[in-house]
Amino acid sequence: MTAVQGGRTPKVLHVSPEAVPFSKVGGLGDVAGSLPAALRDSGTDCRLLTPAWEGVLDRARELGFSLSRLSRKAEAVIRWKIHRGTVWKCSGEGLVAYLLEEPSLFGKTVYPRELTPDSVTPFLFLSLAALDLPSATLWKPDIIHCHDWGTAPLPAALKWHIHFGSSGDVCKTVFTIHNLAHQGLLSLESLGDWGIRNEAARVEGMEYFGMANLMKGALVSCDAITTVSPGYAEEILTEEGGEGLGGLLKSLSGKVSGILNGLDDRYWDPRTDPLLPERYSPDNLSGKTACKKKLLERAGWKDDGRPLLVSVGRMVEQKGFSILLPALEELVGMNCRLFLVGSGQTEYEEAADSAAARFPGSVFVFRGYDEPLAHLAYAGGDFFLMPSRFEPCGLSQLISLRYGTVPIVRAAGGLRDTVFEHGTPGGNGFLFSGYTPEDLLEAVARAMEVFRDKVSMQLLSLRGMNADFSWNRSAPLYKKLYESLLL
Ligand code: ADP
Repeated sequence: MTAVQGGRTPKVLHVSPEAVPFSKVGGLGDVAGSLPAALRDSGTDCRLLTPAWEGVLDRARELGFSLSRLSRKAEAVIRWKIHRGTVWKCSGEGLVAYLLEEPSLFGKTVYPRELTPDSVTPFLFLSLAALDLPSATLWKPDIIHCHDWGTAPLPAALKWHIHFGSSGDVCKTVFTIHNLAHQGLLSLESLGDWGIRNEAARVEGMEYFGMANLMKGALVSCDAITTVSPGYAEEILTEEGGEGLGGLLKSLSGKVSGILNGLDDRYWDPRTDPLLPERYSPDNLSGKTACKKKLLERAGWKDDGRPLLVSVGRMVEQKGFSILLPALEELVGMNCRLFLVGSGQTEYEEAADSAAARFPGSVFVFRGYDEPLAHLAYAGGDFFLMPSRFEPCGLSQLISLRYGTVPIVRAAGGLRDTVFEHGTPGGNGFLFSGYTPEDLLEAVARAMEVFRDKVSMQLLSLRGMNADFSWNRSAPLYKKLYESLLL
């Protein structure tokens, strides 16, 4: 059936709750949209299934994708109700995607604040509809590649579902952990709602401290587990980094690998980025200065020569706001300016706002999700701050490197695979290991020394811009994994 088995290329269906350019909440959206396209470029018949959340079909049309509605719907039974989703085949930008439309399930927001039998239904439907998809598309994948807890019901269903678990389907599954902190916990009783046999409700199956753990079900039942950086692949096998599943993952380590996320050059390239006021390249950085000016204007500031530290990301504990916010006053004292873009936990949003009110000439906070402003911040900053407590891969530091904005990061997960200390071989940024405001401040102090030396600063920025963090490095590793599963 495949190149390995008989001359044809592997057929792989990616399933993800979010995928650019249709929808995006965070890094998963970037990866799920760009990886299937990169794999198609490298000769894999790779397609994507993702929900048509509210507005997605209009966006796809605006972007010039060709859309056709398939005559048959994809179906799944959940809590004794048949859900039917319209399947739109959508092609363009090197991608073949199936957009699943079911307005009563796929509304405005992607992830619920709290998981309940109702709020989990869109994710159960996406997973089960993926298994019914071939009857609508007449295209049957050899491998289904699932991403994070929202698609974890799929490998679990292939093992324990009353219908799919005994259908003799030989489809292989890959499950990628983008963030082990979100596992999807439900009551054990609710497993029957979506056709899962009782045997799954055991500790060898999905049972986890008296609950059903969707992620655990996927880990146990899939054929291969990947995560998004080699560093994180090591951390999740330990008690500290395993978020309660470290022991299990260690026992499954034979099927675990870490493959670094790539960056999609089509969206993230300062040479071509349509969202920048001026474009630039390593050969001519004058556009970067124009971007800094524009970014400063957004804060109502003029360039007074002070270094500009930016941050773009969810304001949550994972991202290190509990050490960044207490360090703000000292950072201002060190003559830095800070431009923060993001939203998240109320306590961090309030602390950031109050710092902006206390230091109006030095701290600016944009609360919310704003794609154009994020691009401008990556381009206009001198340094990018990412003090994450843990970081599966992190795309933000890769983007900042590409845009010549020097990262200052905590040495966690994918950050330590991609950022190397200035002055060491391959040095492209600044790192710290401890998780305190003082550790962060020390790294910033080293960065400030380099900032004062314009030549060193420019060389450092250029080193980041010239590094290759595209999918060219990582897509072949996924291809190899698929081929090994089909041997
Ligand atoms: P995570 O997936 O954990 O949120 P990543 O660094 O892997 O973190 O990816 C975050 C992605 O989301 C990046 O593309 C980043 O630019 C984007 N992003 C995060 N917050 C915002 C925001 N407030 N506005 C615009 N883009 C954002």
